[in-house]
Amino acid sequence: MFSNLKIMKNLHISKLHSGGLITNYFCSSKCRHCLYGCGPEWEKRYIEQAQVEKNLLKVKSLGCTSVHIGGGEPFLRPEALSEVLRVARKVGVSVEYVETNSSWYKDENEACGLLDKLKSEGLDTILVSVSPFHNEFIPFKKIKGVINACRITGVNIFPWLKSFVPETGSFDENKTHSLDEYEKRFGDKYVIELISRYGLTMRGRALKTYAGKLNRRSVEEILKANDSGCYELADISHFHVDLFGNYIPGLCTGLSIAVDDLGSQLEMREYPILNMLYDRGINAFLEFAVSNYGFQPADEYLSKCELCFEIRRHLVLKRRISSKELQPVEFYSNV
Ligand code: SF4
Ligand code: SF4
Repeated sequence: MFSNLKIMKNLHISKLHSGGLITNYFCSSKCRHCLYGCGPEWEKRYIEQAQVEKNLLKVKSLGCTSVHIGGGEPFLRPEALSEVLRVARKVGVSVEYVETNSSWYKDENEACGLLDKLKSEGLDTILVSVSPFHNEFIPFKKIKGVINACRITGVNIFPWLKSFVPETGSFDENKTHSLDEYEKRFGDKYVIELISRYGLTMRGRALKTYAGKLNRRSVEEILKANDSGCYELADISHFHVDLFGNYIPGLCTGLSIAVDDLGSQLEMREYPILNMLYDRGINAFLEFAVSNYGFQPADEYLSKCELCFEIRRHLVLKRRISSKELQPVEFYSNV
């Protein structure tokens, strides 16, 4: 099937710069911008110690000696998070920060007790999510509670993003608030403006959220404007490795390289889609999917990445293609 694909350049991740470890995809929130499509529907699986060690030793061997920890919501399994920190210390990879949406906060005593324990295992900084997307699921009171507990226990706070505090703080902090409420209060363009204010990557669940809000372009226009390979796949400046041993290339969620295969050129036999996208881009991928898998494109898409996602969704959910480069499979049904 792939015999007539002519690839000049295979993808090869030979070094890593900066990235994160995804401990779990299940989440107490289901934010409408989530790049990883996380939410409560995901299988309740958390990274195991052996996988933490394997992932971190691999990224270290490729030149990256510090990572952040994210999810899903890493704090949903505090004991397991504690183990992750312990293993990171053991293998000599430092943890820059752990991300949280603060949903786990109940009261000051409990939060301080947990943070003290995690601090003793190496927790230095928490990235506390503050945004209208998160506020649809998490009352601001919990976020303030975590920030206060960090101050008491001496854990550093990295609020992401601080500039949303006045807006989120203007609503009742005991309740959640929808994006519609934000639009009513701050104007019709509010949700559109979040794209630049938040620095959104227009992939994952953001594609669905913004599908009807942004200009769409014809397939022909998209193909014409993107007639070369997707070099984004080789970006090593903000990579992620997950609990299943997947490396997510660039920020192209739903595409995957097995952690074991990092450091070597990807073989065409095992990674036809990634090599095709990297070398020849969306034009070749569309042609491949139409010819081999009966994919019928719609008239318009937001971008090449939406078209790419819809092709991959067709392959995974409709054609039931099982492939190590289209992982995790749950992403395609839960995004
Ligand atoms: S953005 Fe974070 S808090 Fe929101 S659904 Fe995704 S992982 Fe969960
Ligand atoms: S088209 Fe696909 S591979 Fe290329 S940048 Fe977008 S999501 Fe990544």
